[in-house]
Amino acid sequence: MTTYTKEQVASLVDGKLDWDTTMRMLSMPKDNERFALYLEALQKKVQWKDKIVLPLGPHLYIAQSAKTKQWVTKCECGHELGDYRENWKLNAVVYVRDTEEAMNEVYPKLMAPDTNWQVYREYYCPSCGVMHDIEAPTPWYPVIHDFEPDIEAFYKDWIGLPVPERAA
Ligand SMILES: [Zn+2]
Repeated sequence: MTTYTKEQVASLVDGKLDWDTTMRMLSMPKDNERFALYLEALQKKVQWKDKIVLPLGPHLYIAQSAKTKQWVTKCECGHELGDYRENWKLNAVVYVRDTEEAMNEVYPKLMAPDTNWQVYREYYCPSCGVMHDIEAPTPWYPVIHDFEPDIEAFYKDWIGLPVPERAA
């Protein structure tokens, strides 16, 4: 079984690893100690008291509200983006790059996609402005709801830790 070094866990906490690698590391069977350490380190990074249930990205979390025990999607800055089962992107600020000019602001000319076939949608936190996600759909494609993580199963079957309490 692969184990990960302290350095890898540290870069995970700093958001330096891509999300696939992060999920692979987190899904190591029954590595509950590592996951608990990871959550603890993340918790120290944020200013708020709500308990982190699962990180969704370098600056985005599912957290258990300290007051209501509801699970919400929450930015590192504390801005809440709705119930964790809802698509947080609908509560984010979206910037669509659908013209050549807009693409060339950020992507080198020949590497930018043809905007007749592909646009870039960037999702930002309305409070602090950090970018949480970017998707590259065809122009008519609806906002993508990434995945609804099965957190209960993740905790029980993969990590082997008790599932945090959740109010409906
Ligand atoms: Zn924010």
